Amino acid sequence: MTKEIQRKLIIIRGLVQGVGFRPFIYNLAQQYDLTGWVNNTKQGVKIDVQGALREVTYFINHIKSNPPPLAQIKEITIKQKKLHEHQQFAIKKSREDTDQLTFVAPDAALCEQCQEELMERGDRRYQYPFINCTNCGPRFSIIQEIPYDRSATTMADFTMCQQCESEYQNPDSRRFHAQPNSCPDCGPKLQLKKPQGEKLVVKDPIKQTIRLLKQGKVVAVKGVGGFHLLCDGTNPQAVARLRVKKNRPDKALAVMMRDLATVSKYCQFNAQEEEILQGQRKPILLLEKAGRSLPQVIAPDTNYLGVMLPYSPLHLLLMQRMKVLVATSGNLSGQPLEYTNQGVKENLAQLADYCLVHNRKIEVPIDDAVVQVALDQKQVIRQGRGFAPQIIKIKQGLSTLACGGDLKNTFCLSRGEFAFLSQYTGSLTNLENYQRFKDNINHLKKLYNIEPQLIAHDLHPNYYTTHYAQELAGEKVAVQHHHAHLVSCMVEHEVEESVIGIAFDGLGLGTDDQIWGGEFLICDYNDFTRVGHLNYVAQPGGDQAVKEPWRMAISYLFHADLGGVAEFFSNLKQTKVSGVLNMLKQDINCPLTSSMGRLFAAAAALVGLCQKRSYQGQAAQKLETAAEGAVCSESYNYQLAKEEGQYQILTESLITEMAADLETEVAAEIIARKFHNTVIQFTVKLCQIIKLRFNLKKVVLSGGVWQNKILLQGVYQKLTAAGFKVYFPEQIPCTDQGLALGQLVIANYKQRE
Ligand code: ZN
Ligand code: ZN
Ligand code: FE
Repeated sequence: MTKEIQRKLIIIRGLVQGVGFRPFIYNLAQQYDLTGWVNNTKQGVKIDVQGALREVTYFINHIKSNPPPLAQIKEITIKQKKLHEHQQFAIKKSREDTDQLTFVAPDAALCEQCQEELMERGDRRYQYPFINCTNCGPRFSIIQEIPYDRSATTMADFTMCQQCESEYQNPDSRRFHAQPNSCPDCGPKLQLKKPQGEKLVVKDPIKQTIRLLKQGKVVAVKGVGGFHLLCDGTNPQAVARLRVKKNRPDKALAVMMRDLATVSKYCQFNAQEEEILQGQRKPILLLEKAGRSLPQVIAPDTNYLGVMLPYSPLHLLLMQRMKVLVATSGNLSGQPLEYTNQGVKENLAQLADYCLVHNRKIEVPIDDAVVQVALDQKQVIRQGRGFAPQIIKIKQGLSTLACGGDLKNTFCLSRGEFAFLSQYTGSLTNLENYQRFKDNINHLKKLYNIEPQLIAHDLHPNYYTTHYAQELAGEKVAVQHHHAHLVSCMVEHEVEESVIGIAFDGLGLGTDDQIWGGEFLICDYNDFTRVGHLNYVAQPGGDQAVKEPWRMAISYLFHADLGGVAEFFSNLKQTKVSGVLNMLKQDINCPLTSSMGRLFAAAAALVGLCQKRSYQGQAAQKLETAAEGAVCSESYNYQLAKEEGQYQILTESLITEMAADLETEVAAEIIARKFHNTVIQFTVKLCQIIKLRFNLKKVVLSGGVWQNKILLQGVYQKLTAAGFKVYFPEQIPCTDQGLALGQLVIANYKQRE
């Protein structure tokens, strides 16, 4: 019996260039005894294969299920063709195509094979801090231009030695076309310095750095996307000193742990979390503390630790003799991440005792990513190294730039059917971060050869991002904040029809000029209707009330007719109660807000957990942490009212009953839990009412408040049990880092109408 022979033309789109895809296809075709060719084209990687039907099927399945580690396949199309007459399989030379859309790979953690070589005595890269291969190492952070070629990276400064060059040219080598390929003879070198610039003469900079860390010193170490400030994570004095230097009193510090065994001593994790810890992206993963404890000063406000495993060879070498390092971004709080050797002198001299630098330039700075697992899903909390630039398949649209928001900024660019979500820049409230935002946009525009015709920005007229958008050429589209939040989550889950969107966050300007943030919208990509929201309360002092949750506590008491007794609440005694009450009574500088973030802040202040915050989200974080410490299914009362066609959640009885619990000295943990239960209840209740009235069953959750796991899990489980289909942010952050994608898709959609 003759085997059935088939020929298929396969086109693969996505991140398939510069990741060893063609040699992978070549080897796979040999393995399955197929003839034909593979080629890089404008449409993507084209593969023409012919062989036995079974082998062709295996070949295609293998590509889908087991592509090269750094590849990201976004689309495969397969066409049947008439048989060809090729006798072999070949890699065709690609034509230079200037209009080709080439994707850029994110930076990847060191692969297992490179790790083995790093630790193997006798290997020519034994203990070499810059080892890498086609399957791992720096990418986005070193790329200056596309096409991705060594001369277009910061590795252009180093000429490969003969041995490296022959690996680079050999299709059978793991280092075939590995652009950052190097070795101790030809590659970058380390240098230990005083931060002011004085070079230290030491035989082994890594051993000396370890010695300094063990002595409790803070060392600025140049990593993949920027500098870390490192210190011994088991030494409370060292950590406390780092906090003072960095001006970061409370916000949790990330730690790097030697290996999985070390992590298991301090945290608990499941198989999914283990996979994230050890995967090729190696983000900071939020894990529940368990077992032995690290100094409280590392993460005082939370039951979670941000943990990562060493991801660069340099980290691995440092961790040979250190178990736990605090590894926080190299910057003064609020300032952009430091990434140049020159910048150390200017910006880190006050923060670090020593610095370990190298001469491989970082082209574009990128912070570590932060991830958590909730409801068995990986959720990206901070869009950083390993994840950015994130490629998202969208509907065909114009070349578009979406500027994002002012806090936790990311931006998004698109061309054709693909959008690219940038790395996190931080809050654009100072000149340095704003400059960094502009630089990052220009860099990504250049990389992807995108000249935006359409510019999307937030509805807020005074955002820096809005001003920036207005200076650009091209058509502008202003997008409401919470609509953007929800659409970003819809795009991620490919939901296009109308949904019930629940946007809970800190703040965003509404279409009625008030500050929104506890919103129920019925929305699609084109438009939205506000069908419900948290009742409006005053935000005494405007922005000041964001920084000082106690002001919101008084405002909520006032709103519940308890203003007169506010001063008797022991937790508010030290605050200027009467001054704020006067503002409220006379309506001076009291903008209205329906923000869920402010309600959480008010509750945290009332309970006495956070009167003034030192970082964004601190009050809510402390309230969640308290609630985790209680088992209690009780809740407070609330009312739902309907005004002018919109439902409102009324908080008077919630606040009144909380106040009564405080008076009878119910434990803070119990009150925090009851508060969470109440928010879950009214959210679910209002959803059910909206479902009945509008006949919608799909619910989308977005906005920064959903980082709260108690809230997310509670609402998700109750809604799912009630027959809803619920979507929540996974790949795209739920915070303002997700705004840009939503803005972009909405603007593209409106343009098409
Ligand atoms: Zn490798
Ligand atoms: Zn070499
Ligand atoms: Fe927001």
